[in-house]
Amino acid sequence: MDELILVPGGGGFIGGHLVSYFRNRGGCRIRAVDIKPFDEWYQVFDDVENVQADLKDMGACLEACKGASRVYNLAADMGGMGFIENNKALCMLSVLINTHLLEAARQSGVERFFYASSACVYNADKQRDEDVVPLKEADAYPAMAEDGYGWEKLFSERMCRHFSEDFGMYTRVARFHNVYGPEGTWDGGREKAPAAICRKVISALESKKHEIEIWGDGKQTRSFMWIDDCINGINLIMDNEVPEPINLGSNELVTINGLVDIVEDIAGVKLERNYKLDAPKGVNGRNSDNTKIKQYLDWAPETRLRDGMEKTYAWIYDQYMAKYGVASK
Ligand code: NAD
Repeated sequence: MDELILVPGGGGFIGGHLVSYFRNRGGCRIRAVDIKPFDEWYQVFDDVENVQADLKDMGACLEACKGASRVYNLAADMGGMGFIENNKALCMLSVLINTHLLEAARQSGVERFFYASSACVYNADKQRDEDVVPLKEADAYPAMAEDGYGWEKLFSERMCRHFSEDFGMYTRVARFHNVYGPEGTWDGGREKAPAAICRKVISALESKKHEIEIWGDGKQTRSFMWIDDCINGINLIMDNEVPEPINLGSNELVTINGLVDIVEDIAGVKLERNYKLDAPKGVNGRNSDNTKIKQYLDWAPETRLRDGMEKTYAWIYDQYMAKYGVASK
């Protein structure tokens, strides 16, 4: 019989794409679990077992893991900087999801367990300068993670490690660096910079108020990974010998101003920039050092930021029009 794959967070951005990937690949049954009502899932498929449940609850985790041989835990209460800086307790409560899922997976005899960690685990002192030195895996320690969200990720990484050491569980952990693409959050307060900038540019065009608000001074540096590169990386990490949490991110560095340039270019517009210096902006600089993932898995991101942003912009444009019903430009 085909193996059963469990995707906690299957109603979310990355979870939805992972479910879609497994459907297209075939040869497995899929169970997607998310706390959101189905009409809020980004991707819902009729031939997938879709479950609405709160995975902070141990009973729900046991039920979700029943019969599954693989778990890809992508469920977390999260969002962009605006959300995680203002909801630290909620972010930390995601510890219940991963802890209960790990224990339920162990009790249910799950064979492989994947955990989605984040670049937010890295020591803040290594990210003070816009002129970044890319973050190596060892830079998470001594620990001074992003308050709230980052500490939860670091703790959950260690839970995976200790479940492996003490119980012999097969666990894999990836530290995602900013993932972007269609079928994800673009509005409502949890969106991340690429989606937020697309929406703001579209809104400026539609309202004919040719200005844009940028959080911080726009000089902060980041890298952004296209969703398909992320899905490819998740699969490689899950199925290969990767002894410790490993970076999964792009190393194409860009400033937030540079990202706005890209979106303006896609939209064919130039906007007046207003910098909101007291807005949540995160660390000054962050990039992914991909030495390890290249060495272990020969993985490198394939999609240039400009190309991925073009597809993301087109998708958000359609969502914007569908939601706000404004006439096309
Ligand atoms: P997302 O918010 O789109 O998806 C997460 C999903 O988890 C949501 O659909 C949410 O409803 C669900 N969820 C939250 N609490 C739950 C609960 N108690 N029970 C069941 N489901 C619950 O986010 P995403 O971008 O798809 O992120 C997936 C994972 O990757 C998360 O762990 C996130 O922290 C991590 N990550 C994402 C990025 C990124 O750039 N997107 C970067 C680093 C790490």
